[in-house]
Amino acid sequence: MTQLDIRPQPPEKEDKLTVWPYWATKMRTSSSQAEGAQREFQVATLEFIGDEDGVLTGVKCCEVDEKRKPVAGTEFVIRADLAFIAIGFAGPISGGVTKELDGQMTLNVDARRSTNVVANDRDYRTSVDRLFAAGDVRRGQSLVVWAIREGRQAAHAIDKFLMGETVLPR
Ligand SMILES: Cc1cc2nc3c(=O)[nH]c(=O)nc-3n(C[C@H](O)[C@H](O)[C@H](O)COP(=O)(O)OP(=O)(O)OC[C@H]3O[C@@H](n4cnc5c(N)ncnc54)[C@H](O)[C@@H]3O)c2cc1C
Repeated sequence: MTQLDIRPQPPEKEDKLTVWPYWATKMRTSSSQAEGAQREFQVATLEFIGDEDGVLTGVKCCEVDEKRKPVAGTEFVIRADLAFIAIGFAGPISGGVTKELDGQMTLNVDARRSTNVVANDRDYRTSVDRLFAAGDVRRGQSLVVWAIREGRQAAHAIDKFLMGETVLPR
């Protein structure tokens, strides 16, 4: 088992001076990892390699720099017959609506380089007129219960914005 991580290897001890909202990272090793998993840090997956029947035989990878860009000449292949993709949400996709409205919409670029859309949790309005944001795109990766709550509150705010008043619950 080889576990790939695009981030640099975290330090053995967490930095005690790291304060909220930043997350103090440190190297953590689970019992399963200790049992024999090999971990590669600052590595990106470039390609899944298959045989003539389309069955996975390997994963082409490369090292990345601090901006997570591939470092030329560092490509390598890991033999594999099974690949699990376990990638967490890191922010709205950069090629979507946020890209189309680039320069008009204020994005919150935090230390983890996620780019959430800035809107408060009262009126849910973004910096673009008549554009509202709620849920993960606004607060960052979160939980379904928050998405439901924000969706209801945003509906209340939008109805009020359009109609001047609303009977929708907040
Ligand atoms: C792997 C994984 C596991 C998770 N497990 C849990 C869990 O166990 N419990 C939990 O509470 N939460 C979990 N979450 C988090 C939860 O899924 C999210 O917090 C929640 O779905 C956010 O809801 P949302 O409506 O804000 O965004 P989303 O559910 O992401 O909905 C956004 C929607 O917008 C659509 N969209 C995007 N761009 C456009 C466009 N240009 N035009 C039209 N539509 C567009 C997308 O297709 C999508 O349907 C998990 C998340 C992930 C990724």
